[in-house]
Amino acid sequence: MHRHAKTIFTLTLGLLAAAAAEQRGAKAKVCPYCQNDPELLARAGLVSHGPVDIGPAGGSEALANSLAVSDWLFLESEHLRWGSSLASEAVKARDKKRLAAELDALRELFPEIPKRIKRLDPYLRLHLMAWRGEKFYARFQDLLGVSDADFPAARQNDGPYMGNGRFLGEKDKFEVLIHVNRATHKLFTSDHMGVAVTDSLRWHFPGLHKMFVSIPAADPDIRYDKNLYPHTVHNLSHLFLCAYKHFSFDPPIWLDEGLAHAMEHEIDSEFHTLDGEEGSLPDNKGPADWDKEIARLRRRGKLTSFAKLLHIQAFGALTQDDHVTAYGLVRFLIDKHPKKFAAFLGAIKGNLDAEGYPDGSDLRGLQREQLKYLWDWTPTTLDRAFHAWIDTR
Ligand SMILES: [Zn+2]
Ligand SMILES: [Zn+2]
Repeated sequence: MHRHAKTIFTLTLGLLAAAAAEQRGAKAKVCPYCQNDPELLARAGLVSHGPVDIGPAGGSEALANSLAVSDWLFLESEHLRWGSSLASEAVKARDKKRLAAELDALRELFPEIPKRIKRLDPYLRLHLMAWRGEKFYARFQDLLGVSDADFPAARQNDGPYMGNGRFLGEKDKFEVLIHVNRATHKLFTSDHMGVAVTDSLRWHFPGLHKMFVSIPAADPDIRYDKNLYPHTVHNLSHLFLCAYKHFSFDPPIWLDEGLAHAMEHEIDSEFHTLDGEEGSLPDNKGPADWDKEIARLRRRGKLTSFAKLLHIQAFGALTQDDHVTAYGLVRFLIDKHPKKFAAFLGAIKGNLDAEGYPDGSDLRGLQREQLKYLWDWTPTTLDRAFHAWIDTR
């Protein structure tokens, strides 16, 4: 049954691929903004438009061939690799102000970018995302209180444990594949993850030591640049936290999801991504203003207690109130206790057992211990400090 469905699916893709190849022939493959000029790219902190070593094996060329129904562009920056089949997007009047500063900054690096932009073409969309990706990487390092210099290429015998590689503790770069349609996302996830997934899916390729996310930018909401950006940052926050001091075990759910919400919120305060059983999906059903929602939950005594958050073991088990509470709690910790919160993240993600192996076997106990050690908090007194902070906002 499953195989039959896939055969039809592959045939349809084959026909579409032929049409796309025809279209592609007519298109120039040189980026109009950087001309793939190594000097210009290097000055902008970029490596290349390809071929790049993205994906499971064979890099960008194998990947583009396996998903040939779309026209793929690639771009590698200092810490990330991007693949995109995004279409161009008209810049509407309401987008101009939001994009102006970003396009000005990008124009400093690539003077060929025109002053007046009516459309974000596929190359410009990719350059924008790559630029934002590095900006967010710096933001995340700032949050963790680390810099590239803290991460040696391999684990050291002396000094603090920082994982196994230069990319927050992983050996290889972070990778984002953005699909213009859901078909190639499903094909990709079914080929490499063994299941055709509908929503954005994060993945750690075994043996390759790199964190990867596949994003179907197909729905009206995340197809739109304004929403795709926070949704991508939400997913990158998960990848970065998992990678920090090496991905040896899943971080606590409330912390992982609360942090992703807080990072997404810094990009766009009204767009939210919720993680479920299958993947992460944009959410436009819940409350739009989560800061107001925190205050409302507080008034009604409906904030989730930390003791309950500690026990949540799967993204799918988080209720809407849990999502909002986890977001608020992380926001509180970042705003009021940035240094201790960084220490907390480091202690959780870099926990080692007596023999020096990464140990995530008792994350609940570890969190209680760290709350006590860093703040002299119990779950109850943490709730109290969090609630008092909400009351002062
Ligand atoms: Zn370019
Ligand atoms: Zn999430």
